[in-house]
Amino acid sequence: MAGMATQTVPLKRSNILRAYAERTPRSAALAARAQRLLPNGVTHVSRYLEPHSVYVERAAGSRKWDVDGNEYVDYFGGHGALILGHNHPLVVDAVASQIAKGSHYGASSALEVEWAEIVQQMIPSAERICFTASGTEATHLALRLARAFTGKSKIIRFAGHFHGWHDEVSFPAGGAAGISPSVVDQTLIVPANDTGRVAELLGSRDDCAAVILEPTGATFGHVPTGADVLRRLRELTARHGVLLIFDEVICGFRCSPGGAQQLYGIMPDLTTLAKILAGGHPGAAVAGRSDVLAQLQWGEEPSRIVAPRVPHQGTFNAAPISAAAGMATLRQVRDTDALDRANKSAAAIRDGMNAILRSRGVRWCVYGRFSDFHIFVGDATPEDIYAGRVPAAKLKGGTAAELLHKIRAGFLLHGVDIVGWPGGLVSAVHTAEDIARTLEAFDRTLDLLAIEGDL
Ligand code: PMP
Repeated sequence: MAGMATQTVPLKRSNILRAYAERTPRSAALAARAQRLLPNGVTHVSRYLEPHSVYVERAAGSRKWDVDGNEYVDYFGGHGALILGHNHPLVVDAVASQIAKGSHYGASSALEVEWAEIVQQMIPSAERICFTASGTEATHLALRLARAFTGKSKIIRFAGHFHGWHDEVSFPAGGAAGISPSVVDQTLIVPANDTGRVAELLGSRDDCAAVILEPTGATFGHVPTGADVLRRLRELTARHGVLLIFDEVICGFRCSPGGAQQLYGIMPDLTTLAKILAGGHPGAAVAGRSDVLAQLQWGEEPSRIVAPRVPHQGTFNAAPISAAAGMATLRQVRDTDALDRANKSAAAIRDGMNAILRSRGVRWCVYGRFSDFHIFVGDATPEDIYAGRVPAAKLKGGTAAELLHKIRAGFLLHGVDIVGWPGGLVSAVHTAEDIARTLEAFDRTLDLLAIEGDL
């Protein structure tokens, strides 16, 4: 069964999708209503699924249940926020006790001070912290700070790296509908891991404010980046007076308690944090050098107080409930073996899936380094991928959307919800039984894909 399909069943006639639709009539009914209200019928593009998305009613630990009563082992993990799984008792207690005391004070609180103290203690480069409401806002603010601090305008980022959806980061080379060409002009997009190109740019122009990247590689290592790339970028940016921004929205508090920067021992100038930071609630931050974050401070002149150079507001900055949930979560990450457990479970999933692929003679592979797994739908080994022998465009975006939908629906049919890239994020509370169910689901999904000619 090696190699890619020659003839595959089209989506509309796929038995996998039909079977999923039959199992989920209430989800289908909600999706039909949603179609009249929400573009695509969904509220986040990554939740879009053919023939309809999963409508969840409740969740607990590693599992969630849809409106039809089907149970799933969950690898969406709140888009990466739920390192402790759903409704961890300590997080629930923290939120419940905070909600009784108020959700918004329109004032400062001890919560934000304690929350920032934990962040400062855990993230090595966090001299100062500025809270925002989402990861998107955090990268937006980080770029603004970098420009204000350096007085330069251009931003270098890497193709495929995700930094949220604001104008400066959400277009591929050439731009996208709705984004002003003047914004596109300010961005220099470099192929993933191409430090040579960054060296050329920084050596030949003096208008660059910052280099921003996901330090574990695009989408938490879907296109992996190694320590050597980070070290080279640190060297180059320091030499040219350009700020290095690690977007640790996913990998922060996940690949080590202090994120990628602690793991690799490489200090960025600024770091963006979200997801685990706020324990499954909305919340994010920019952390980093105090001289850079000082751009946000009120200044003094002899006879008056002057406004900060960099404007920043936000109704839900350091929201008390997010702070409470975030602190409860961060303490578990800091003080227990939570990350170790998540990493080990993910390794067991990757090893188990690779063994299944080998035993079936399918030449795909499953890779990842932390609490993640990425299914590569093509002919390669994890070693090929880590050695850079598989082009980034093949790793990310190289699989037909139809096949991705079928893979996800196949897992759902067998009680597992993966992320559509395809892959997943593993929590500290996934159990051996969850892993066994996941491997069984993978095997059964491959059976179905084989019948449809997709292997
Ligand atoms: N950066 C990275 C690396 C992310 O993974 C995400 C979210 N997936 C963001 C930024 C944007 O965060 P948010 O969805 O909270 O705006």
